[in-house]
This record gives sequence, structure tokens and C-alpha cells, in this order.
Amino acid sequence: MSQTKKFASQADLQEKQVTFSQISPHAWAYTAEGDPNTGIIIGDDAVLVADTQATPAMAVDVIRRIREVTDKPIKFVVLTHYHAVRVLGAAAYGAEHIIASQDTYDLIVERGEQDKASEIGRFPRLFRNVETVPAGLTWPTLTFTGKMTLWLGKLEVQILQLGRGHTKGDTIVWLPQERALLSGDLVEYGATPYAGDAYYKDWPHTLDKLMALEPHALVPGRGAALTTPELIRDGIAGTRNFVSELYASVNAAAGKGEELNAVYRHTYAQLKAKYGHWVIFDHCMPFDVSRAFDEATRYPDPRIWTAERDLDMWKSLESS
Ligand SMILES: [Zn+2]
Repeated sequence: MSQTKKFASQADLQEKQVTFSQISPHAWAYTAEGDPNTGIIIGDDAVLVADTQATPAMAVDVIRRIREVTDKPIKFVVLTHYHAVRVLGAAAYGAEHIIASQDTYDLIVERGEQDKASEIGRFPRLFRNVETVPAGLTWPTLTFTGKMTLWLGKLEVQILQLGRGHTKGDTIVWLPQERALLSGDLVEYGATPYAGDAYYKDWPHTLDKLMALEPHALVPGRGAALTTPELIRDGIAGTRNFVSELYASVNAAAGKGEELNAVYRHTYAQLKAKYGHWVIFDHCMPFDVSRAFDEATRYPDPRIWTAERDLDMWKSLESS
């Protein structure tokens, strides 16, 4: 890298265009050109929202879109994982329940505060009106392990943990009657997977389980809603390939005793041609390679990112 890159996404100030679209009889997608998505399920008697946006002020726009199509109460918020950009808007919905996996709950306890500070520093644009975030953290009111089922009238909504990937607590929302899936950040489309808290060796297997559900419509964590089997295959395979190729490259280099800096330069160069056009590629790569290097060497579990560790890592990888 010939010149120092601005830290993470601090230089990304361009507002994105929001799309709100129906993807199956009961599921809608709120997407924004690669910014974090929100999935919405409208049941017979209530609405479920999966991932909240980063601030209550931003969630107000999701609610406005929901109110264009239904006046049913928003009773459930599902957190697909613990990341601040997904959960800190929760207060705006006034939902009866905030649902998360027990593993996600445990991560909020363990590292929620550090993650909040770190994520706001990395990507200020995504935390518009950050002053509307209540003090403290977003706490689930219902936790589960493996699987829980909600019945919104006659509509069956499965909330599933199919394995680790983007984080330890990854959760998806699945409508078996219409094969619609809200994947959270386990699947991205045209956006670089963030893997700073990932389990690289597990992620591809978890994606195989998602694929085995045979979804007909899928809202990824970032990027456009996928509404044909071909697009879904592309989205899942693209994420799987990126994660697998990145880890293979890092693992091979680390196995030869290369230092993190050399591993980073080499892996960045290797992935740039194929994936460099995906949004947030330059933001994610230093975090993704750092975590892959950790997993390949001596940290089976992701280390906590603090605002300070973020900057130290960036300086060490991007200034040399
Ligand atoms: Zn995430």
C-alpha cells in the first residue's frame, strides 16, 4: 500500500439509497446499497423486525416504511448477532420482546461495551444521530439455544442457530411455509464479509446448512435482497468463497511462519482482484486478516476489539 488509508470507514460519508421491498407473502427487505439491512416479517397479528439499524433515529425510517404496509403492532425484535450497528436502534420499536441466542447474550455481556465504542469509531456515518442511542446496551428479553418457534397467527417463524460463522451467536429467521430467510451477516451480497469476530473454520459449514434449507428468498446482512434461487446460490457461494479463500491464504502463510504484516500484504493482493469491488473491502480486510491470523495461530476464540486495539492494528498494517 503506497499511501496510508483513513481508518476503517471514517472517510465514507456518502448516504445510500434505501429500498423497501416485499420478498415473499410475509417478508420484506429494507436494504441500502450495501449498508446494514433490516428484515421484516408481517404475521397475522404482529410484526417482527430482524436487526434494528444502528440508532433509534435511523430505525424511525424503518418504522415509517413498515407503516406504509401495515398497522399491526411491532411485537418482536430479533438480533441476528451482537454487533452495535445491528442492535443499538432497538429502543425505537417499543417491542414486547427482544430475542437473541444465548451465545449472543453472552457476547453482549462479555464485550458489548467495547464493541459499541469500537464500531461507532470505525463507521460514524452508520451511526446517524448517535445521541438517540440510550445509555448502556441493548439487552435481549428472551434468549434461546438452537431453535425457537414463534407463531404469528398461522404463520410459523423459526429462529435458528445453525452454527458459528460471522460470530459465535449467529441467528437466522426462517419462514418454512414460504422458504424466506433473513440471514444476518452470515451472507453478504456485493459487500465484503466482516470477519473480525468470525469462526473461519465453521463459517462455510454453517453456510452449507443455510443452503440446505433451499430458500426461495433471502435478505442478506448487506446488499440487495435475493429473490431467485440463482441469486441466492450466488450470494451464499460468494460469501463462502471469500471466507474460505481468505482463511486458506492466511493459514498457509502463517504455517510458514510469516509475520502478520507480510500475511496481510500478501492476502490483500491475492483477494483484491476478485473481491476489491465489493463495498467496505478496504475497511474489512485488516480486521478479517487479523482474525484469520489469530484463528490460524493461537486464538480459537476472537479477541475483543476495543477502540484502542482497532487503531493500533490499523496503524501497524496500513502504515508500513
Ligand atoms: Zn455483524
